[in-house]
Amino acid sequence: MRLSRSFLPTLKETPADAQIVSHRLMLRAGLVRQTASGIYAWLPAGLRVLRRISQIVREEQDAVGAQEVLMPTLQPAELWKRSGRYDAYGPEMLRLTDRHERDLLYGPTNEEMITDLFGQSVSSYRALPQTLYHIQWKFRDEVRPRFGVMRGREFLMKDAYSFDADYAGAVASYRRMMLAYLRTFQRLGVKAIPMVADTGPIGGELSHEFIILAPTGESGVFYDGALEEQDWLGQPVDIDDHASLEAFFERMTSFYAATDEKHDEAAWAGVDPSRRREGRGIEVGHIFYFGTKYTEAMGVSVNGADGQSFFPEMGSYGIGVSRLVGAIIEASHDEAGIIWPDEVAPFDAVILNLKSGDPACDALCERLYQTAPDRLLYDDRPDRAGVKFADADLMGHPWQLVVGPRGAAAGVVELKRRATGERTEHSVEDALSRIGLGS
Ligand code: ATP
Ligand code: MG
Repeated sequence: MRLSRSFLPTLKETPADAQIVSHRLMLRAGLVRQTASGIYAWLPAGLRVLRRISQIVREEQDAVGAQEVLMPTLQPAELWKRSGRYDAYGPEMLRLTDRHERDLLYGPTNEEMITDLFGQSVSSYRALPQTLYHIQWKFRDEVRPRFGVMRGREFLMKDAYSFDADYAGAVASYRRMMLAYLRTFQRLGVKAIPMVADTGPIGGELSHEFIILAPTGESGVFYDGALEEQDWLGQPVDIDDHASLEAFFERMTSFYAATDEKHDEAAWAGVDPSRRREGRGIEVGHIFYFGTKYTEAMGVSVNGADGQSFFPEMGSYGIGVSRLVGAIIEASHDEAGIIWPDEVAPFDAVILNLKSGDPACDALCERLYQTAPDRLLYDDRPDRAGVKFADADLMGHPWQLVVGPRGAAAGVVELKRRATGERTEHSVEDALSRIGLGS
């Protein structure tokens, strides 16, 4: 993309109403604009990040056998009356009425709808297990939308739902999803730590929140730093084998991790002091087993092998896709701006033409740009070098390819790594191969 022709409106001034750094940087870097309280429009660079995160989430869901669907944002109130949650959900639910006076709502979550869809099509235990997911906008009329996309009213969520014949099957589904989440967050370059969460009346230990350390987080967290070092992508787990899933799960839960609500001082004292991590955290995902709560309430049963009908066991599994954009920035920035992890950056690199109009600079930049115009941002604006450097740091591209008249004459490019500030000089080929675009 050529910067001179693109819609990437950066701001020099810090927006007055943005309280936290990710919100300020998302506005300043031109990723989003607010259209109403807690509701945001995604501009080209922001949308690219959202799509890259969604794609990683999708690949890891698919890898554990979940199947993608797309449910609508609007839901009939009747479904929620069947589960008993229509009145219970309260003012966070946005309720509307169509021209025929039928009650609708903008979905805050999809347990009811997926349970109904499942019930319409599955009548035998033979179809089990099933895990379905979608990546769709949700609406929750939060009392206090704040921190930009971190606590919005309209937000993008990946939500998955599992259906199993029995408790053992539901546990396996839960563990598969746990593995998918750990792999997803590892690929996203974020340290999201699974912590046991409240299960309410369901009981048991099958509810985990995935939390990223950030000073602006809403809950206090304590965990063993060894959890940050685990390579979940490299660990072979046979997702069709309950024993293999169990071994993985035991390993994961052997490390201490708890929010302040569940913190246990005695167990914490047993963690090696050099590995204790303590701070505030942001919830980016939540997985939850809830048994037959919805299938029973909504009367969705299937026939078992013995001819008796039974209510399938369910779990639900959310990832805050749009919240992750803010959470990643909270965890990865400096005074100058965003530092995008390679995996989610809107562009792999920016090309900084320090003297637009100079034939040698223009030619070299053009040559770089043509190697991957869809993955590179070319700052071809006629602005001063200082403006370009500042915008590049603000937007946080992992790499900067800097082309000045002296280098252009010699066929040399300066490569800057945004995360470390390290600058090195290279031939064109070498520079491209270092950022993964070499032939
Ligand atoms: P929170 O405790 O932050 O209000 P929640 O527990 O109500 O979240 P879930 O129902 O577990 O949220 O939703 C799954 C995921 O969706 C959360 O882990 C979070 O990442 C994201 N999410 C929830 N509410 C919002 C929101 N208002 N804005 C952005 N993302 C959200
Ligand atoms: Mg939650």
